[in-house]
Amino acid sequence: MSIASNLNSIKATLPENVTLVAVSKTKPVSDLMEAYEAGQRIFGENKIQEMADKWKQMPKDIQWHMIGHVQTNKVKFMAPFVSLIHGVDSLKLLQEINKQAAKNNRVIDCLLQMHIAEEETKFGLDENELNALLSSTEFKEMQHIRILGLMGMATFTENQNQIRKEFIYLKYIFDSLRNRDAQQHGGRDTHSRDAQQCISTSISTISMGMSGDYQLAIECGSTMVRIGSSIFGGR
Ligand SMILES: *Cc1c(COP(=O)(O)O)cnc(C)c1O
Repeated sequence: MSIASNLNSIKATLPENVTLVAVSKTKPVSDLMEAYEAGQRIFGENKIQEMADKWKQMPKDIQWHMIGHVQTNKVKFMAPFVSLIHGVDSLKLLQEINKQAAKNNRVIDCLLQMHIAEEETKFGLDENELNALLSSTEFKEMQHIRILGLMGMATFTENQNQIRKEFIYLKYIFDSLRNRDAQQHGGRDTHSRDAQQCISTSISTISMGMSGDYQLAIECGSTMVRIGSSIFGGR
């Protein structure tokens, strides 16, 4: 199967409200171009340097998503062009993104990564850390980031019930975030400083699901799937 046909058969199964991120990490530009020629415009990478190299070489209408763990000292290399950062899991990282976005005169869209898996090794926030981050003064003062929603990775297991449980949990946090924020900020003057920080209007995205579990993720409410090996082949 070619990259184009893999891509097309996956796209045919996705509901209209679900965005496909083609995860192209470790793959050569020629493979990405094949997906590009087939119409794909959103690519996901997990290393900043590799993403920057590909960005330089490829057409400029591509949206580049950073899906991997981000080191603060490397944010500056993607700040000029990155379209969405999925793996934000600390205030410190968010502050650096805000700073680099300001330098580039832009607002950078971010997803907050939640820890939903059983494994200790996966990055992400728990519910308390999420609440603490969102209610901090530092967060409220950031003018160059926009939180679009949440991202999560399920436990690496064959157990579908376990994965489903974790996806449903992420959807639950997502829904409460939207509701809570709508209540807090409903009816306020849209020009006040507080209202600028109202994130309920921008909360729209729940990034969950990879090659092995994206159908399940969609059943559980995913709006963005990150698919690599089913499009480009194994790594
Ligand atoms: C590599 C990766 C993916 C894609 O994984 P596949 O199993 O190849 O679809 C999705 N999300 C993240 C965070 C990744 O690192």
